[in-house]
Amino acid sequence: MRKMNTAECPVLDICKLARAGGLEVGARTLLVLTSGEAIRVIAVSETELLVLHQIAYVEQRYRLELKVWTQCGDRTYKRLVCPGCANWGRLLYLRQRFACRVCQNLNTVQAQQTSTRHAENRTRQLRERLQAGMTPIDDITKPTGMRTTDFNRMIGILRKVEPRALEETRRWAARSGLGEWLEN
Ligand SMILES: [Zn+2]
Repeated sequence: MRKMNTAECPVLDICKLARAGGLEVGARTLLVLTSGEAIRVIAVSETELLVLHQIAYVEQRYRLELKVWTQCGDRTYKRLVCPGCANWGRLLYLRQRFACRVCQNLNTVQAQQTSTRHAENRTRQLRERLQAGMTPIDDITKPTGMRTTDFNRMIGILRKVEPRALEETRRWAARSGLGEWLEN
């Protein structure tokens, strides 16, 4: 199962909130997350936010702590403290609860691309060595001169990496509206 990546997860960005005036104590801000869901953020104090998130008819409430410090004289900086690991940063991701990328076990988009590219390259290399062309894995026969153990090992790896490479291709096709074209 592929890890979710940061672009697919609703995110609370403290810089956006600050720009909307949402960090002023007492401010109540309505924010629309990337997923299209709305959350209400109340700045309870200099160091605490209350986030209200309505799912169906149930309202979820989250208390978020802010890390506050000043630099260059009087400029104040605020960051969101992750309830999971107490690290602080600009973003917290919402997936059942708010937490940082690491605690939510999210890939960066970049890491996702690297791992997909790896799966695609590996698939291509293996298919070349197996002289398999586009033959389905179950129908690939051992090339003459290749040792059976090598053949079995390569087939084993291909079974693992090819679905990952194909999954990404399908997702790309679905996004581009080519889904049905790739079904067969
Ligand atoms: Zn964390």
